[in-house]
Amino acid sequence: MQDTIQTLPHPYPAMNGATLAQVITAQYGTTDPEALAQRAGVQVHYARWFPATYGEFCAKTRTITLNQNAPVSLGAVLAHELGHYFAQEAGYEGNTDVQEEIAKSFAEVLLQSL
Ligand SMILES: [Zn+2]
Repeated sequence: MQDTIQTLPHPYPAMNGATLAQVITAQYGTTDPEALAQRAGVQVHYARWFPATYGEFCAKTRTITLNQNAPVSLGAVLAHELGHYFAQEAGYEGNTDVQEEIAKSFAEVLLQSL
């Protein structure tokens, strides 16, 4: 007799920004970054600073701050920061390069749907 190996369903897929985005947008029923932030209870703030970075997120306070000096669409920046946020929520670990890659592919899925 053989034991059956069962894989427990996990709400989040393995570290993959694109798949994470598909799960999250289905869960919250929107691909719109602003609506997604609102439904997920993430506060969005606006500020201006030298555009070395375009946005920041704080998981502790569930806050994303967008840099109004960013030379790109703030919707795109929000989508990217949401990628960081949900990756952290999902417990994804990894160095900065890994985290950036996840946020980047997460944002691409959202922005493709706009
Ligand atoms: Zn980033």
